[in-house]
Amino acid sequence: MNQTTRIIPRNIPGGLARHEAQVARDLEMLNLPPRAWVPPLARDGVDVRDVVVIGAGMNGIAAAGALIFKGIRNIAVLEESAPGQEGPWVTTARMDTLRSPKTLPGPCFGIPSLTFRAWYEASFGLEAWEALYKIHNATWQDYLSWLQRVLRLPVNHGVRVTRISPAEGLLRLTLSDGRSMLARRVVMATGRAGAGGLHRPNFVAPDLFPELAALAPTPIDFAALRGKSLGLIGGGASAWDNAATALEQGAAEAHMYVRRATLPQINKGRGSAGPGFHMGWDALSLEERWNLIVYMHDAQAPPPHETVKRALKLPGFHIHLSSPTKSARRGGRGVVIELADREVTHDFLIIGTGFVVDMDRVPELADFAPHIARWQDRYTPPEALQRPEMAAFPFLGPGLELQPRDASAPPELGLIHLMNYGAHATHGGIASDIPGVAVAGEKVSTAILRHLFQAEIGALRRELEAFDEPELEGTPFFVPR
Ligand SMILES: Cc1cc2nc3c(=O)[nH]c(=O)nc-3n(C[C@H](O)[C@H](O)[C@H](O)COP(=O)(O)OP(=O)(O)OC[C@H]3O[C@@H](n4cnc5c(N)ncnc54)[C@H](O)[C@@H]3O)c2cc1C
Repeated sequence: MNQTTRIIPRNIPGGLARHEAQVARDLEMLNLPPRAWVPPLARDGVDVRDVVVIGAGMNGIAAAGALIFKGIRNIAVLEESAPGQEGPWVTTARMDTLRSPKTLPGPCFGIPSLTFRAWYEASFGLEAWEALYKIHNATWQDYLSWLQRVLRLPVNHGVRVTRISPAEGLLRLTLSDGRSMLARRVVMATGRAGAGGLHRPNFVAPDLFPELAALAPTPIDFAALRGKSLGLIGGGASAWDNAATALEQGAAEAHMYVRRATLPQINKGRGSAGPGFHMGWDALSLEERWNLIVYMHDAQAPPPHETVKRALKLPGFHIHLSSPTKSARRGGRGVVIELADREVTHDFLIIGTGFVVDMDRVPELADFAPHIARWQDRYTPPEALQRPEMAAFPFLGPGLELQPRDASAPPELGLIHLMNYGAHATHGGIASDIPGVAVAGEKVSTAILRHLFQAEIGALRRELEAFDEPELEGTPFFVPR
C-alpha cells in the first residue's frame, strides 16, 4: 500500500458525541469562555462589532476562538466560501496529504480535547490514529469544520468583504451582499493569497488565460486535460501536485520546466517551527530579522518527498531542470514555451510560481494601501542582502497590526491586523503554516484586548465602582451601605 493512500476509517459510534461532552467539560473546568466584558458600542443606532474576523480558515478560527476565550464576544467571522470549503484543503490543494506531521496540535488553544489527535481518536479510534501516516486534506478540513462548530464561532458563510474603509475611529466593511458593517478592529485571516494574490509571471502572455493556461492554486478542469500534453512552470510542491493530479486523471504527459539546476533540499520552515522562532522572532533587531528573512527566502522549500514519489511513478511525468522559461504564448497546438535553447509546445499550461506579497494588490485594503508601512520604509539592508520581494512585506506592529508609513495615514489603519503570510517578515512563520497558528491567534487577540481595555477604561472603571457584592455580609464586620 502506498503510504499516502487514503484509508477512510470507520467512525466509532457515539465517539465524537462523547468527545464533545469532554470538550464541554474541559471548557467548564477552565471557565471558558468568560463573560463578555467589553461595553457594547453603537453608532447612529447601528451595533459596532468589537472585532470582525475575515476568513474562517484555521487562522480565522485561531483568532476568533482566542478572542472569545478572552471575553471579547461581540465578534463576527465573515467567510466567502460555503461551509466545509474554507481555505485550500478540499479545493485547490492537490496533494494527497498535508506536508506536516500528524502530531500537530492544530488551533487548540492549549486544550488537549481540541487537538487534531483528540478529535481523530474520538472519531475513528486509537488504532486508526496509529495507522494514520499523514493527515489527508479532507480530514484536516473536517477537523477545522468541527472546531468551528464546537467552539460555536459566529461564522457567516458566503459573504465576501470587498472593502475596508476608515469610519471616524472605526472601520466600515463593505460586503458582497450589499450590506456594510462597523467594527472597532478587523483581523484579516484571508489566507496565503490574502496579502497580494497569486504570482502571474509577466513572461506568460495574458491571452492564454483561461482557455490555455491556469495558475496552480485555482480551479482547473482536469477532466478536460485527458489525453492532452501539459506543460508546467515551477518546481515547488504545487507544480508537482498539479502534474501528478493531471496524470492520475488521464493526461498523456506532464512536463515541468524548472529554473534551478537542483531542487531545494531542506525545509527550513520545518527547522524553524517551534517556540523559539515563533515567539522570539520579533524580539530580534531589524537587522537580525532581515538576515533570517533572507536566509529563509534564499533556501526555498523542497517539495515533500511523498509528492515527488507520487509524480515519479506516473508514466508521462517529465522534469526539466535548468530550464527557465523565457516566454509562453499562443501557438502550435496550444501553448508555445520558449526555453533558452528550444521551443516546446503543449496543449495546456499550469503555472506554479506561488504567491506575492504586495499591499497594493489587496482589494480589501485599497483605501489604506498607499499609507501602509513596508519593510523597505523602515530598514535598508546592505546591498548583498537586498531582496525586493521581501522588502515589499508590510512592517507590522506587535499585534500584527498595520503601521502607518507617515503622518498622513488615516489613524484607523492601525485597527487592521494582518494575520496571514504578510506577517512573515515581521513575526516569522506564525500566521501562515499550521505549527505557528496558536501563537498568531494569541498575539492578535492579546493586542486587541489591550486596545479595548484602554479605550473602555472609563466605562470599566464606572462598572467597577458600581460593583457591590458584599463580601462580609453575615459576619460581625459587615457595614451596611
Ligand atoms: C496547497 C497548500 C498546501 C499547504 N499545506 C500545508 C501543510 O501541509 N502544512 C502547513 O503547515 N501549511 C500548509 N499550507 C500553508 C497554510 O497552512 C495554508 O495556506 C492554510 O490554509 C492557512 O490558513 P489560513 O486560515 O491562513 O488561510 P485559508 O485556509 O486560506 O483561509 C482563508 C479564508 O479566508 C477567506 N477569505 C479570503 N478573503 C476573504 C474576503 N475578502 N472575505 C471573506 N472571506 C475571505 C477564504 O475564502 C478562506 O476560506 C499549505 C498551503 C497551500 C496553499
